[in-house]
Amino acid sequence: MVMGDLVREVDVVVVGGGPGGYSAAFRCCELGLETIVVDANKRLGGVCLYDGCIPSKALLHVAAVIHEAESARDFGVEFGDPRISPDALRKWKAERVVGKLSRGLAAVAKGKGVEVVGGRAVFEDSRSLRVEGDEPQKIRFAHAVIATGALPTPLPGIAVGSERVMDSSAALELAEVPERLLVIGGGYIGLELGQVYAALGSQVTLVEMTDGLLPGVDRDLVQPLARRCQKFFGAIHLNTKVVDLREVGSRVEARLDGGGTQTVDRVLVAVGRRAQSEGLGLETTRVRVDQQGVIAVDERCRTDDPRIYAVGDVTGEPMLAHRAMRQGKVAAEVIAGRPAAFDNVVVPAVVFTDPEVAWCGLTEAEAQRTGRPVRLAKLQWAASGRAATLGRSDGLTKLVVDPDSGRLLGVGLVGPGAGELIAEGALAVETALLAEDLAATIHTHPTLSETLMEAAETLRTKDGPE
Ligand code: NAD
Repeated sequence: MVMGDLVREVDVVVVGGGPGGYSAAFRCCELGLETIVVDANKRLGGVCLYDGCIPSKALLHVAAVIHEAESARDFGVEFGDPRISPDALRKWKAERVVGKLSRGLAAVAKGKGVEVVGGRAVFEDSRSLRVEGDEPQKIRFAHAVIATGALPTPLPGIAVGSERVMDSSAALELAEVPERLLVIGGGYIGLELGQVYAALGSQVTLVEMTDGLLPGVDRDLVQPLARRCQKFFGAIHLNTKVVDLREVGSRVEARLDGGGTQTVDRVLVAVGRRAQSEGLGLETTRVRVDQQGVIAVDERCRTDDPRIYAVGDVTGEPMLAHRAMRQGKVAAEVIAGRPAAFDNVVVPAVVFTDPEVAWCGLTEAEAQRTGRPVRLAKLQWAASGRAATLGRSDGLTKLVVDPDSGRLLGVGLVGPGAGELIAEGALAVETALLAEDLAATIHTHPTLSETLMEAAETLRTKDGPE
């Protein structure tokens, strides 16, 4: 077929089949709009399902099992040293986890009537785009939703075309478990995947350019994680950058800016992600893109082009799948003429390390930075019966509260299961609960969720609530 032979007319074309894109497409179909998704890989799920959230959490679960088995020694149960079969592990991750979810998503798409076209979409104007690749065609649309996500940021000034220097996607492939792994970047990915490789047996060295892990996150939440990383990683170098990477035989040599060289078997570069808006032909539309490639949108996910919407990582920080999903649904509803807006108060964040770190709403650091007066309630998990039964008393629950009204402004958690517990915090802040409401809600005993109630109780005064 000659490109352009086929011209399709649809209500909505969604560019990109990740969580933002498929959420938008599913909701559009539910609202009666004929919808096509164009995805370079002709599948739904995106980076999240194939190269990000899901495979990394599968591997983190494996790491947790290894650590649980090790720490069982403390209470008199010995399993012996783990024997890891990388082939079986890769197969389980690819087939039983990713493959299963992928088939599920495809079935949902079919059920809702979402068509997925394989290829690269390039806008030709504000009403049409062409699809390049195996299924070339033109699509005329009433509305488009751009959901093209983000790409790993390369190390500035250092280009190494070696499979030993991996981004997160390559690291998740688990081609091998290197004896020595250098992780560049102490953010979400560096810490999550650093812990995975450390659990599988790699000696991990982590290099972070700022003065602490997870920059921007409250220090008291990061501290228990930093302590655990210090225990399980070979070394952590803060205030350090890699200035040169060189492949030498089957090794990689990394030169650090403070002096010194690390010789390792593999390197993981995890220094952030950048919006993916290049090559989309956006110059033929009125969509505004900033110097970082981020597409500007309003609270209804509208770009400057009235027919084109954008959702997810391509619209900037926070680059989190659950934000993209919510934006996707908002975009669909707005296109269908409903009064929706992305007016959420909180976008909760979770780092799925051991211990997990999670927060939502106002953080203590942000309150300090902006000079906003707040009351803080902190409950160490050493006081939690449930934490003691798990052998993990290293957690912390923190509430950030408005001093006048007692309203919850933010919640921070560190500890095993923090990623699940933050849902209660998100609901509380989103719905403007008072700390007193948390204190008066019966929480099941003994659970880690009690720490939210007990933290709120510490704010009670003898003269009554708040
Ligand atoms: P990140 O922004 O979380 O962390 C990057 C880290 O690299 C920062 O600590 C930064 O100071 C450091 N850094 C930057 N340049 C450096 C350099 N030259 N040398 C040494 N350190 C350097 O980015 P990421 O870990 O790559 O993850 C990207 C994004 O993916 C995250 O911001 C997040 O939005 C998303 N993500 C989310 C999850 C989750 O929700 N659990 C997991 C993985 C990724």
